Amino acid sequence: MAISRNRIALVAHDNKKNDLRAWARFNKGVLAKHELLATGTTGLLLEEDLGLKVTRLHSGPLGGDLQLGAKISEGNIDLLLFLWDPLEAQPHDPDVKALLRIAVVWNIPVACNLATADFLISSPLFDSGYCRVVPDYPAARHLGPRRSAA
Ligand code: PGA
Repeated sequence: MAISRNRIALVAHDNKKNDLRAWARFNKGVLAKHELLATGTTGLLLEEDLGLKVTRLHSGPLGGDLQLGAKISEGNIDLLLFLWDPLEAQPHDPDVKALLRIAVVWNIPVACNLATADFLISSPLFDSGYCRVVPDYPAARHLGPRRSAA
């Protein structure tokens, strides 16, 4: 069966970067078949480690999480691996929350720890062309330029 290419977003807070790097090295063979996107520093490290092309956005604290969130809302991300740090406050905590929220809004598979990442990457659905349900929010049908009430 043909492999279906996923667009995988990868983010790790500083205390979690080594975990993500080790996980990505272990899973390089699978990751190489997909399109990788990441926040700035995470992406740089993964590119160096894996020798794979990673589309790098801004660093998380400078808007990278929000860029990923925008891509999710536009339907351009299929899966999010976000190793956020539960033991340290981040300057961009609101952005972290926004990214996690929008991933749930659009029904994106999300792994926030290595155990869940292992389950996702070993799932038969991972590269089978799985079509998630894309919620049909009534409000989304009315999006468009705001008209003045004149
Ligand atoms: P970074 O950003 O990959 O640029 O370190 C991650 C984050 O803090 O959200």
